[in-house]
Amino acid sequence: MFKAEVKSQENEDICILINVENHKYSYICECGEAKKLRVKECQDTNAIFLSHTHIDHFVNFDTVLRHQIGANRKIVICGPKGIIEQVQNRIKSYTWNLIKKSAISYEVRELSNGLIRSVVLNPPFWKQENETYFNKSIIFEEKDFHVEYEVLDHKIDSIAYLFKAKDKIKIKLEKGFKSGKWVSDLKTAFIKNNKEQVILVDKQEFLAKNLFYMIKVEKGKKLGIIMDHAANKENHQKIKAKFFRSDEVYIECFYKDEDKDLANKNYHSHASMSGQIMRESEVKNAIPVHFSRKYRAKEREEIVEQFEKAKNNNTSIY
Ligand SMILES: [Zn+2]
Ligand SMILES: [Zn+2]
Repeated sequence: MFKAEVKSQENEDICILINVENHKYSYICECGEAKKLRVKECQDTNAIFLSHTHIDHFVNFDTVLRHQIGANRKIVICGPKGIIEQVQNRIKSYTWNLIKKSAISYEVRELSNGLIRSVVLNPPFWKQENETYFNKSIIFEEKDFHVEYEVLDHKIDSIAYLFKAKDKIKIKLEKGFKSGKWVSDLKTAFIKNNKEQVILVDKQEFLAKNLFYMIKVEKGKKLGIIMDHAANKENHQKIKAKFFRSDEVYIECFYKDEDKDLANKNYHSHASMSGQIMRESEVKNAIPVHFSRKYRAKEREEIVEQFEKAKNNNTSIY
């Protein structure tokens, strides 16, 4: 359902591109330096998700913006408290006297004090317009999936995102049943839990509950992006609650275990802590990303080893 690709090279910052099956748009998570991110991929992007705006996560925003001008549609940007001002200021640092009004429109959604504040920025003046507030656990929604979030502590807010495909209701026809309009009636009855609804199958009446045994629910896939966060109990509880049994999670591993004091000082995680929380969260496929640029190739390999060891080891974090 979701196909994620790390677009930054190992000695660059962090940028992950997500594509969705049978869906024409892409999704960018983090705007760190990423030479592998192509122009077309920026143009096809429908929303950008930012955990926070330390420079290693936001430096490439201008390049993405550059490629998106002329998309002639709305693109959503999601991020932490302050993101509206920051995006607006970044855009306004350029001169826009030649731009067409319809060239692009950004809707920025800011997570602030438990609410989502949304504004629209349009060229050429990029004023904050159409301000709305909503109180939802879902920050972005499309037909077949939505994106939830969790606010982690990185000495500032750092937003972790969970892409969640909607469950698919399928039917396995038993002997003697042929497909027909009744199948969609039955699916609707199942979704609405209308057990007593009468379903007409080939002129024969059935109570919906007596046909529910043919319904199969295919659980929607879950993909997580967890960026910079302190490896503390509170963050770990939140990660476990939100990302439990996710299919795939990309998690920061900024420091190797030998630098764990530095990790604590900078409200970051380190290799074995990230591995352990992924094990405790029973994530099927956990991928360590976002290593400090001070590490050489050999040290980056060590981080992955420490991460994998902790992920497969059966010791508790606390
Ligand atoms: Zn950071
Ligand atoms: Zn970072």
